[in-house]
Amino acid sequence: MEPMEKNRDFYEKLEKKGVSRRDFMKYCSFLTATMGLSASYVPKVAEVFAAPKQRPPVVWLHFGECTGCTEGVLRSMYPWIDELVLDILDITYHETIMAAAGHQAEENLHNAVKNHAGKFICVVEGSIPTKYEQYGMIGGRSFLEIARDVCPRAAATICIGTCSAFGGIPAASPNPGGYKGIGDALGIKTLNLPGCPTNPVNLVGTVVNYLLMGKLPALDNLGRPLFAYGKTIHDQCPRRSHFENEEFVEEFGSEEAKLGYCLYKVGCKGPETYNNCAVAKFHGGTSWPIQAGHPCMGCSEPNFWDTMTPFYEEM
Ligand code: SF4
Repeated sequence: MEPMEKNRDFYEKLEKKGVSRRDFMKYCSFLTATMGLSASYVPKVAEVFAAPKQRPPVVWLHFGECTGCTEGVLRSMYPWIDELVLDILDITYHETIMAAAGHQAEENLHNAVKNHAGKFICVVEGSIPTKYEQYGMIGGRSFLEIARDVCPRAAATICIGTCSAFGGIPAASPNPGGYKGIGDALGIKTLNLPGCPTNPVNLVGTVVNYLLMGKLPALDNLGRPLFAYGKTIHDQCPRRSHFENEEFVEEFGSEEAKLGYCLYKVGCKGPETYNNCAVAKFHGGTSWPIQAGHPCMGCSEPNFWDTMTPFYEEM
């Protein structure tokens, strides 16, 4: 039976939301390419959404951060993809979107971790104060206590955003609270999806990879999936030919800026930054910082607030 026939209910549900099969398959092609898989995987990726075989329970924790990564995922590039992601995942605990509050919320977290020990995926947003634990408390427990309780019992811990991956802005110098990313704070291995915010397609790609292949994607030495963080921004940048020809913007608003010249001399950190912004883009593939004329700030690199500043000066 054709996949579309087999999953007729799913496609009818999509159509009721105003999403054509063509749009959906276009999204699946985009996602498959982002994951670095060949076009032959597109029907299999579509199948993960249309007929999810397993729905891994997810416990989503918030620590020291701005919730920008959650906002990015929930307001992702297609208004309907957030619902699809929520359909393939069993979000058992998420402080931003759950209805429970107070003691009931604490109980939900306790039950989720106890009932799904060894099976749930823990997604963490935000970093942890390790010097003064009282800087971050929820329900009378410090962030560190909560992370120590929850993360080691997960099947995998995915750090979304630079804060949970590497410490982010809470860990910027002088870092009086001793903030650290989750891997460093707990001494465990985490899958890191840094970015400020993380492009939602990289979270979706990681989860779909897990559901499709039964394992997490291949990682670099900083725990980042190679499909998304395997190349520098510079190596994928559409302004690269201007860099090679030494055609640089030296002042914002100049004639060279209007001509789309290279932003290296106004502070672009693309040569030092590993991410797929140039191909994944943001807001439905509309644009990304360099396309909009803004230099890359290196937001997916460790300690970027300290090592990539001043942002508007040449490296
Ligand atoms: S704009 Fe930045 S990333 Fe693009 S070519 Fe110039 S230095 Fe490289």
